[in-house]
Amino acid sequence: MSLSIDLHAHSNISDGLLTPIALVEHASNHNIKVLALTDHDDTSGLAIAELEANRLGMQLIKGVEISVTWKKRTLHIVGLKIDPEYTPLKSGLAAIRAGRHVRATGMAASLDKAGIMGSLEGAYEYAQEGIISRTHFARFLVNTGVAKDNKAVFKNYLVKGKPGYFEHQWASLEDAVGWIVGSGGVAVVAHPGRYDLGRTNMLLLLEEFRGLGGTAIEVVTGSHTADQYIEFAKYAHLFGLKASQGSDYHGKGISFMEMGRLPALPNQCVPVWQDWPEAALIRSASLANQAVTNQSPCTMSE
Ligand code: AMP
Ligand code: MN
Ligand code: MN
Ligand code: MN
Repeated sequence: MSLSIDLHAHSNISDGLLTPIALVEHASNHNIKVLALTDHDDTSGLAIAELEANRLGMQLIKGVEISVTWKKRTLHIVGLKIDPEYTPLKSGLAAIRAGRHVRATGMAASLDKAGIMGSLEGAYEYAQEGIISRTHFARFLVNTGVAKDNKAVFKNYLVKGKPGYFEHQWASLEDAVGWIVGSGGVAVVAHPGRYDLGRTNMLLLLEEFRGLGGTAIEVVTGSHTADQYIEFAKYAHLFGLKASQGSDYHGKGISFMEMGRLPALPNQCVPVWQDWPEAALIRSASLANQAVTNQSPCTMSE
C-alpha cells in the first residue's frame, strides 16, 4: 500500500467518534503519513493531535472546517496550515460555536413539535468534548430508534422541510477565507459536489472564492463519485485552483469512506501540498510511482 495524505478528518472535538489521539493512531494504522485534523469550527484538538503525530513519525497539518452561509446555502471551507492562535480566526470560530448552541435549541424545539422529545439533552450527551452538531442529534435519533441509521436521519430529519431543521446563519465566505488566509493558512472549498449548486452558481462561487484569496478545492473526497473527481478537476483547471484530497473521516458507521482508501488525484491536478515541506515524503513516493508530466494547475482536457 502506498504512503498517503489525508487532508480532511474529524475527531470528537467536532462530530467524529475518535479522540484526536485515537484519530491520529487510526490514520497511522491506515498508512497515512500526512494528516490534517479539520474539526468543524473548532481547533482545540490540534495541539494534542500534533504531539501524537510527532510520536508516530507522521506530519499533522493544522486544519479546521468552517461553516459558511453563501447565497442562503451552507458551504464548508477547509483551512489548512492555519495558525489557531490568530485572533480573528479564534474569535470568529468562537462566535460560530456560540451560534451552534442557539441553533441546537431551535432544532430540538422543532423535533419536540414533531413529538420527538428529549433531543437537546440527548444530543449534548454525545457532544461532551466540543461543538454541538447535527451529527450528535443524528446519533440520538438512531440510538432511540427514531431513525434506522445516519443515512435515514439526513433523509427524513434535520434537513430543510423535515422535523429538526432550523434555519441558521453561519459565517460569510469572505470572513471564513479571510480568517484562514490571515492566519497564514490555505483555504479550500470542501466537497464541492455536495452543494447541488448547478454550474452557474458553482462558477460564481469559485470566482468569488478565488477573488477572496482561496487556493484549492477538494477534488478527491469521501463523498465524491468517480465522475465528480473528473468534474471538479476540470473546475480546478478552469480557475487555476489547486486540488486537495481528504476522506472526511468521522468514524465507523458515520463516514463516507475509510481512511487510506482514496484514489490519487487525477494526473494533471496540482496538489495543494505541492510546495509543502510536510509532504516531501509523499511527493517523492508518488514520483517513484508515476512520471509527473505537468506542473501547471489542473490541465485537464475539456
Ligand atoms: P452541522 O454542521 O451541525 O450542520 O452538521 C453537519 C454534519 O452532519 C456534516 O459535517 C456531516 O458530518 C453530517 N452530515 C450532513 N449530511 C449528511 C449526510 N447526508 N449523511 C451523513 N452525514 C451527514
Ligand atoms: Mn461532520
Ligand atoms: Mn463538510
Ligand atoms: Mn468534514
